Amino acid sequence: MRKRVLITGGAGFLGSHLCDRFIKEGYHVIAMDNLITGDLRNIEHLFKLEQFEFYHHDVSKFVHVPGQLDYILHFASPASPIDYLKIPIQTLKVGSLGIHNLLGLARAKKARIMIASTSEVYGDPTVHPQPEEYYGNVNSVGPRGVYDEAKRFQEAMTMAYHTFHGLETRIVRIFNTYGPRMRLNDGRVLPAFIGQALRGEDLTVFGDGSQTRSFCYVDDLVEGIYRLLLSDYVLPMNIGNPNEITISEFAEEIIKLTGTTQKVIYHPLPKDDPKQRRPDITKAKNILGWEPKVSRAEGLKITYDYFKSLPREVLFERDHKNFDSYIK
Ligand code: UDP
Repeated sequence: MRKRVLITGGAGFLGSHLCDRFIKEGYHVIAMDNLITGDLRNIEHLFKLEQFEFYHHDVSKFVHVPGQLDYILHFASPASPIDYLKIPIQTLKVGSLGIHNLLGLARAKKARIMIASTSEVYGDPTVHPQPEEYYGNVNSVGPRGVYDEAKRFQEAMTMAYHTFHGLETRIVRIFNTYGPRMRLNDGRVLPAFIGQALRGEDLTVFGDGSQTRSFCYVDDLVEGIYRLLLSDYVLPMNIGNPNEITISEFAEEIIKLTGTTQKVIYHPLPKDDPKQRRPDITKAKNILGWEPKVSRAEGLKITYDYFKSLPREVLFERDHKNFDSYIK
């Protein structure tokens, strides 16, 4: 009998890569997604497999999955600052009502559950790099509050189910990740810059570009997640790439990579945009024997090739096709 795993957000960027990985490892994979920000094109190659199923469902409503489940990975959530502004209530609901439903499901099925948390729990960090013990600096009522607080609540709820019900739980804090299948129009910096280069537009750097991020290639992230899920470690663990870069330097790298002749233009820095971010991955190294392997040069090349291969009209899609109809 194949082990069975439920992946929420299975049609999204990370969710779809996780579906691929678990199929490759011999699991029966059930992907669940309401397709607001997810896209069936990310998983269409899996539909022909009999060990793959897709449920079109919003996990903020009661979740029913027939049969046994060994693992649940809760990766459903809007995950870009633009999305939080457009669908703030849904962002809060999937992290709160959604996780409650999935923890209940995990209990009923005696399944191990992993939740996708985020470096956003550290807010605009005053400690650098960020170790798991840092409690963060979050503005609960700012534009990112709907995401940050939902994820913090999700961690608290998950720990409560672990301590009170003895549920097997895992919490991964994901730092900026990139790779094929990112949504080109979700406003995040990498698809924004590459999309701009491909459309022949100037690259929009927010603020003076001195803020930093540390970008992890998706295959590295998936490897870390897989190891954490199968480990015994219950407290939150950072998974990300500690190689830090300013957004200005990043724009220059994209200009070089794409060969665009466009220039950088400056826009105001969004409110509460973290000034610096880099994971302390000591725990992942020591406990999982994990560290990222893919250099930014390699990862960016693969990602650029992916975006170049998309049909040209996708470059000009303003929003995901389901997005507008959902928020009306
Ligand atoms: N950013 C930018 N230009 C863009 C989009 C984003 O300069 O067109 C900046 C943004 O202000 C932030 C960084 O790039 O400092 C990373 O933004 P992203 O939305 O990708 O993720 P975040 O790490 O802020 O959640």
